[in-house]
Amino acid sequence: MFPILQNEIGAVLVVGGGIGGIQASLDLVESDFKVYMVDIFPSIGRIMTKLDKTFPTNDCSMCILAPKMIESSRHQTITIYSYSEIKEVSGSVGNFRVKILEHPRYVNAETCTGCGVCAR
Ligand code: SF4
Repeated sequence: MFPILQNEIGAVLVVGGGIGGIQASLDLVESDFKVYMVDIFPSIGRIMTKLDKTFPTNDCSMCILAPKMIESSRHQTITIYSYSEIKEVSGSVGNFRVKILEHPRYVNAETCTGCGVCAR
């Protein structure tokens, strides 16, 4: 599927769904921007999901990341395209047009409850 984002006033494309992209998206929606976040991996969160503690405070990584992942995924003005790639960017400042390739997941993300039976 190739969703095409174009010419939406006040919309921002965030490339990457790691902690940096997630925090940028949350900050942008606080400033009333519509956000499209694109990440090539099947889930947002990236490397921080694999860490136990964070430097230099030794805080629990998931304790910091998980609430932000949930907030960004549930936010009405953040649209997440995970497992997706940017294939084409055209236009210029204030009027970009972006073509995104969404890779198939072979499950219906709208109705999946995450029970895990298909993985077994
Ligand atoms: S079996 Fe469970 S995890 Fe797999 S697609 Fe169906 S609802 Fe989702």
